[in-house]
Amino acid sequence: MIAKVAIELRAKPVDRLYDYLIPEELQVQVGDCVEVPFGTRVVTGYILALESEKQAAQRELRPLLRLMTDQTPSLEPEMIEMMRFLKDRYLCTWGAALQTILPPVTRVKTSARYVLGEFATEAELGVALVAYLKRYKGATKKTLVDQFAINKRQLDTWLQQNVLRLDVSHRSRLGKRRVIAEGKQGEQAFELEVPLALSLAQEIAYREVCKALDQQVSQTFVLHGVTGSGKTEVYLQAIEYALRAGKTAMMLVPEIALTTQMMARFQRRFGARVAVLHSRLTDREKYEEWYRILRQEADVVVGARSAIFAPLRKIGLIVIDEEHEQTYKQETEPRYVVREVAEWRAKYHQAVVILGSATPSLETMYRVERGRYTLLSLPQRIGERALADVQIVDMREEFRKGHHSLFSQALTHALQEVLAKGEQAILFLNRRGYTTILLCRDCGEAATCPDCDISLTLHKVGGSSLLRCHFCGHTEPLREVCASCGSERIRQFGAGTQKIEQALFEQFPGIRVIRMDVDTTGKKGAHEQMLGEFERNEADVLLGTQMIAKGLDFARVTLVGVVAADISLHLPDFRSAERTFQLLVQVGGRAGRHEMPGRMIVQTFSPEHYAICAAKKQDYDQFYQTEMAVRKAMQYPPYTEITQFLIAHASEQVAYNIAYLLYEELQNELFGRNEVRILAAVPASIPRLRGVYRYQVMVLYTSFARVKEAITRVYRKMLAKAKSGVVITVDVNAQMLF
Ligand code: ADP
Ligand code: ZN
Ligand code: ZN
Repeated sequence: MIAKVAIELRAKPVDRLYDYLIPEELQVQVGDCVEVPFGTRVVTGYILALESEKQAAQRELRPLLRLMTDQTPSLEPEMIEMMRFLKDRYLCTWGAALQTILPPVTRVKTSARYVLGEFATEAELGVALVAYLKRYKGATKKTLVDQFAINKRQLDTWLQQNVLRLDVSHRSRLGKRRVIAEGKQGEQAFELEVPLALSLAQEIAYREVCKALDQQVSQTFVLHGVTGSGKTEVYLQAIEYALRAGKTAMMLVPEIALTTQMMARFQRRFGARVAVLHSRLTDREKYEEWYRILRQEADVVVGARSAIFAPLRKIGLIVIDEEHEQTYKQETEPRYVVREVAEWRAKYHQAVVILGSATPSLETMYRVERGRYTLLSLPQRIGERALADVQIVDMREEFRKGHHSLFSQALTHALQEVLAKGEQAILFLNRRGYTTILLCRDCGEAATCPDCDISLTLHKVGGSSLLRCHFCGHTEPLREVCASCGSERIRQFGAGTQKIEQALFEQFPGIRVIRMDVDTTGKKGAHEQMLGEFERNEADVLLGTQMIAKGLDFARVTLVGVVAADISLHLPDFRSAERTFQLLVQVGGRAGRHEMPGRMIVQTFSPEHYAICAAKKQDYDQFYQTEMAVRKAMQYPPYTEITQFLIAHASEQVAYNIAYLLYEELQNELFGRNEVRILAAVPASIPRLRGVYRYQVMVLYTSFARVKEAITRVYRKMLAKAKSGVVITVDVNAQMLF
């Protein structure tokens, strides 16, 4: 038999399995972690398949070196299947798939030392070297090359002749992993709380989920309910039901910042059997939690995106809270969509998935419409607490009246009131990236692409500026007047959080502000610290980007201000209306969660836009109908899916040439298919990043199954063709287009 081994190499993406002979003394199984020779190195990998020798290539194979199962757990069959799924669906490498399903520390770092071999002689090696190797029990390759000036070819020859031998000692980055694995579970005592008596709507939803759990067929529910409608209580009780049936469960939240709150709530219900997983944990913490799950000491997992790969067995229920959030898309290889992985795992385990949201993504609702998902609703807030009163402020009016402050009169007064009463406010700015758009201050329209209905972005090329649609590549000179009203007051648009903070200090002397954005929350624990300060009333205003939009719950917040709704409304993305609607509904849900009534003030240049109007009324259905009509007319998702290729190279010409070649290959493969649209090679939304030029090619299609082979073939072909320095990445089911 031979073993087919997946190897994870950081430096270069390895995209095949490697064949090794299995020495007779080794008892290996599929999934085992093994050490193998790789070039002149020794690396670890996992056996993904066993084959009889005849099937293997005729060339000479090297044997596996040793089994690592005493140190590193073997892969469950599900994990291997899942790697195949990731590879198949997202066209990633084996290495990337392996990295994704393992916590970082199970990857053993090997440090090979050269030691004296059986045929070592002083004549061959020299007196000094022999003495050194004896004294220090070997030497690293670096030492031999640098200090003893031995070239690498010589080393290989000596290895072959057994003059030198490689001794592989294992140093995990954690040191003694066994001690850690035994960890500190059971140390903490939890005061458990009892489940709440469910409302009628909750009861109905809960029963449906329980019924599906009993039936043990995989099924997906959409739990649609505004913030405060009691979704989390339904999750908790459904999870409890699954646990009682001897199953395990998983609860995913969109932001790491939210895991802490959710974790606390889960521990009050389930105690020490809850594990938490997210990327901000230290390696040690991550490993501890991962191992607790693997050993079945924890059977409930709370976590962010990557927790979907938690090594739970017998999964009964997977909950994805705020399922519409973009953070559920992984933006590095493999570029997976959490919902898809969840559905895959649910199918494997005959488990139930709940997608919860106040504003389900259009993709999800479309599946409800088509009968693939089952809709459950919680139409009211618990205790019939009113939703925040939403006031839309027309910034065009403010401008006309000569108020040029970042804060309208209404928002200014409301802030003064909050300060006077000692209450708190959240100010929200949805600025992401550095895209600059043109916005007419008189009619509120943004400059959009004539073909795509997507905002044009401003680019500086040489000394002059031009407008570009980064979807189709359409370009035009900078507009002087507004295309819809003829006004000349057409300006670049966008303020940063820093600028708003400054304006707050100027207009409200003595105001205490906490600014939360990517600049201020980089450090570990920064989120929690800032939110804690706000909670303790150490600030009047919490000012931030989308990271403050959801899930957070503060009793003293009576005002939520959206400084410029237009920023998200006109992002150069066909999803901008959807994002804006989702955001406004979420942010509105932050106010008035407790005794004090809440209000929201939304400043915008487009008060009549359907996303803004629907958000004011919190009318999901109205928004859904309008937006779906737009998507259908333009053939955007969810009516299609988009695969995006990105080609990067230091030379713009090379990047473009490869992109063009890729475009041609796609044309050849998919010629004449009318359900497929291939967009020309155009500069990516960020055309140049760290000195590297980036081009993109996009394909829109109605069924991935029908284009998969063609897309895979073209991608592989281009990878093989591309010379060094060219980076080609693929994003199947691309979510963000800027
Ligand atoms: P969501 O997840 O939809 O935002 P939650 O489950 O967090 O809603 O519920 C909102 C608030 O209402 C929480 O404080 C929760 O404790 C409370 N709550 C939820 N369900 C009930 C219930 N059946 N009876 C009383 N209070 C409830
Ligand atoms: Zn105009
Ligand atoms: Zn366009």
